[in-house]
Amino acid sequence: MTAEDLNAFFWRVNGLRYYPQSAYFRREFGAPVRKISVDAHFSCPNIDGTVGYGGCIFCDARSFSPGRRFGIEDIDAQIDDGIVQLRRRFDVDRFIAYFQPSTNTHAPVETLERVYRVALRRPEIVGLAIGTRPDAVGEPVLTLLEKLAREKWLVLELGLQSSKDESLRFINRGHDYACFVDAVARAKRHGLRLGAHLILGLPGETREDNLLTARRVAAMRFHSVKLHNLYVVRRAPLADMWRAGKVAIPTLEEYARLAADFLEVLPPDTVVERLAGEATDDFLIAPEWTAKKHAARNAIDQELRRRGSWQGKFFDPDWRDEN
Ligand code: SF4
Repeated sequence: MTAEDLNAFFWRVNGLRYYPQSAYFRREFGAPVRKISVDAHFSCPNIDGTVGYGGCIFCDARSFSPGRRFGIEDIDAQIDDGIVQLRRRFDVDRFIAYFQPSTNTHAPVETLERVYRVALRRPEIVGLAIGTRPDAVGEPVLTLLEKLAREKWLVLELGLQSSKDESLRFINRGHDYACFVDAVARAKRHGLRLGAHLILGLPGETREDNLLTARRVAAMRFHSVKLHNLYVVRRAPLADMWRAGKVAIPTLEEYARLAADFLEVLPPDTVVERLAGEATDDFLIAPEWTAKKHAARNAIDQELRRRGSWQGKFFDPDWRDEN
């Protein structure tokens, strides 16, 4: 399918101006698919001391303490529960098990395989999505994922957040951009389908910084991206910084402009899994609009319409990173 065909396709899919995950799933699986979030109770290298302590400043790191224990029965129960709830709400029969919280490759490969196979053995589960950090995908992990990807659909989702090293240091990410580039190159050698997680509008970043990250991500040709706004949750280090007036959080309008900029340079066939973060009132401190369902999606859609634009409008397949 050419870029032009895909653009025409976006316009037909609910009148959206970007390539939503729901449309991709329908094309890939011939039916709607929903993701079930699974917490396998892994810890995180940026919390347990493997690369650092305290975690990223926006993360409630105490939720992922090294003492957490996983249980096979627990994972099965989460999948059961997810299937019941999603069937009731959306009348779907196919699901992706999404190993989401914390770092889902941060364990010995034998443990990882045992955990992933709890999901893989279920007939309703048509694939796996595995969220992790670029510094937690060594060769044994990638070899395992390559093997599993031959059995079922699989995406490895790597957190980058920003390609600006200064920003990565500021958010206490514990890895730099070069680490991400290396992980992507190695994962590609294993033929893996890859996703990237980004935060748009980090403190101190300019529109040019945002565009550079977007162009870099575009050039790496990810299967999917997940865009997040920066939001403040209870118990995260960012909460104290925000209360002390040390960080500014983008407004809805500012975020919509950043997201529209990002989408414009993204390839038209990159799946957009998410346009903004979600947090419930119980945890969210700011910004208020994060708790409003569809607020970000509508604002980004409006911004793209105002510009007469869409995902991929300014994608340049010949762009080279000379920074
Ligand atoms: S956001 Fe992810 S990588 Fe960062 S500390 Fe939390 S679990 Fe670890």
